[in-house]
Amino acid sequence: MAEFHELVVNLHMHTTYSDGSGSHQDIVRAGFRAGLDAAIVTDHNVLVSGPEGYYKDGKKRLLLLIGEEIHDQARQPQQNHLLVLNANRELAAFASDPQNLIDNIRRAGGLSFIAHPYDPECAPIKESDISWVDWQVQGYTGLELWNMLSELKVRVKNYPQAVFYAIFPRFLPLQPPVQHLNKWDELHRSGKKVVAIGGSDTHALPVKAGPFRLLIYPYEFQFQTINTHLLIASPLTGEVATDKKMIYEAFTAGHCFVAYDLPSSTRGFRFSAQGRDKNALMGDELPAAGGVTLKVWLPQVAECRLLKDGQVIQTWKKTQSCTHITTEPGVYRVEVWRPYLGRLRGWIFSNPIYVR
Ligand SMILES: [Zn+2]
Ligand SMILES: [Zn+2]
Repeated sequence: MAEFHELVVNLHMHTTYSDGSGSHQDIVRAGFRAGLDAAIVTDHNVLVSGPEGYYKDGKKRLLLLIGEEIHDQARQPQQNHLLVLNANRELAAFASDPQNLIDNIRRAGGLSFIAHPYDPECAPIKESDISWVDWQVQGYTGLELWNMLSELKVRVKNYPQAVFYAIFPRFLPLQPPVQHLNKWDELHRSGKKVVAIGGSDTHALPVKAGPFRLLIYPYEFQFQTINTHLLIASPLTGEVATDKKMIYEAFTAGHCFVAYDLPSSTRGFRFSAQGRDKNALMGDELPAAGGVTLKVWLPQVAECRLLKDGQVIQTWKKTQSCTHITTEPGVYRVEVWRPYLGRLRGWIFSNPIYVR
């Protein structure tokens, strides 16, 4: 199989144009320090396209792309947040009807991802339920499998816990909420192709508690946590339009995996398949006829689980590479787990290979 080029992309973040505390420049600086290849800003209900482009720092370069997070601000509660990438036009006016919004995004050549699908009320931090509820919609690209803020809302049961995770954010990420994983598997079982991405949902919010001041989940920290790693066939060129096209084609194809990069970089992870007549990368389809060899490569020894249609069918406790041969059609995906800060935590969640 041809060698792919891997890009570390952090996506889903807010600036002062909506409810974030930083500027696009702050994001670029933090992106360089975190070692990102690209960052995708998604302010609420506003497309601020001006800052899009390449930024340079010595020999390093970072591509800043601009999308948008759209929801109906007249709706109570304010559920149904949709991440809109590559539409290149303002579509927030369509927010009241999610299906119409998705259709208009497609017409504009854009991608749509259901943001934080399960995002329940969290009383200790006075946050309301902003889950996705209109599941009858069709034609969206995928969903945000792992979002650190919705994981916080799922896990925090009382105020001391909220304070703990505010001060020690690296203890928070454990895994994508099971509600997200179950919904994703359910959509696959219904025959849909649904691309998973990971979002940081960075706001970098300053809070004051008595004499204490704290910046909650700042950009640079967040950019080292939940990332989406993309695989593209040829290296980036440095030309914005060309590279933007390659990046969004890879997102559309699901040539990506969701990763928690803080315990250790996940660069180098691969999940691919070899069929009788063709090869496949995560996100691709291939026929079962004649047998399929699924192959996983991990950047470090860890626990690797292979799932078929949402069920774990094989676990390798300590491995760096594994293979599984099958003739059974199904939706195959990989989860990688590793210990970090005293607990076994989700490290890598691949997009599936669809064996038909
Ligand atoms: Zn949101
Ligand atoms: Zn957001």
